[in-house]
Amino acid sequence: MTGARTLSAADLQPLGKGGGHKYDEGHAVVVSGAMGRTGAARLSARGALRIGAGLVTVAAPGSAMMECAAQLTAIMLRRCEDGEALAEMLGDGRLNALCLGPGLGTDGRAGGLVDAAVAARRSVVLDADALTVLAGCDDPFAMLHDACVLTPHGGEFARLFPDIAERLDDMPKADATWEAAARAGCTVVFKGPETVIAGADGRTWINDATGDRAVPWLATAGTGDVLAGMVTGLLARGLDPVDAASAAVWLHAEAARAFGPGLIAEDLPEMLPQVLRTLT
Ligand code: AMP
Ligand code: MG
Repeated sequence: MTGARTLSAADLQPLGKGGGHKYDEGHAVVVSGAMGRTGAARLSARGALRIGAGLVTVAAPGSAMMECAAQLTAIMLRRCEDGEALAEMLGDGRLNALCLGPGLGTDGRAGGLVDAAVAARRSVVLDADALTVLAGCDDPFAMLHDACVLTPHGGEFARLFPDIAERLDDMPKADATWEAAARAGCTVVFKGPETVIAGADGRTWINDATGDRAVPWLATAGTGDVLAGMVTGLLARGLDPVDAASAAVWLHAEAARAFGPGLIAEDLPEMLPQVLRTLT
């Protein structure tokens, strides 16, 4: 048994701005895939910026620069072809947190980028394609560390933790997530109508978006990409992985609830100021 607790606003770490320089609020980097796949990374970047990261950069290959440049304004853009280039970029210690997966692809370039991001031992969110890359490794958890956050939905969870997933019918989702986090040695966010956040240290939170808290309109393309960016933004601001993931999951559901039916992923970052105001 995990001793999992249900999240409420009172459990969130204070998220107010310190009033200092933008660098004091952290610099989040979202690594994008090639041309035609940048939309997901741009959603993540927007989530990171709206949740209060001081700076957000999208790192994209040359083929995607025009597409990104045409769409991004407050978000910065850096050319980054492969893992080697990312490792060099991460020589800048002021780049606090990374997001890989949305729109990343699953080719050799993506594999090199995931390796470089994790090896930098910086806070890193691995979502979507990065989880597919990870699941394809011989020993997926050997390279992870406690500043990593994995954000799988059901299918991604089953690819990463097949033996845990096959017991899901007989165990609470909280127990499955707790076991996965202990196995991976990092924070796991197991998404769905009920989302569970578990840290490698055993802290486990449930965000129940069912019953009278249901937000079924979150089940639409791109909402997970926004969530990955929100977690990254809070990591960049210095929250620990479990606190960052819990706050992001709670705020993400509240933003959807505040918007209501008809929500598309682009609406979530735009709803965040309204939800953040309710916390202060
Ligand atoms: P993804 O599957 O990566 O696109 O992420 C979808 C996001 O929407 C996750 O944050 C899920 O927890 C959330 N979500 C999906 N379906 C529902 C639902 N029926 N009710 C509440 N949240 C949901
Ligand atoms: Mg997803």
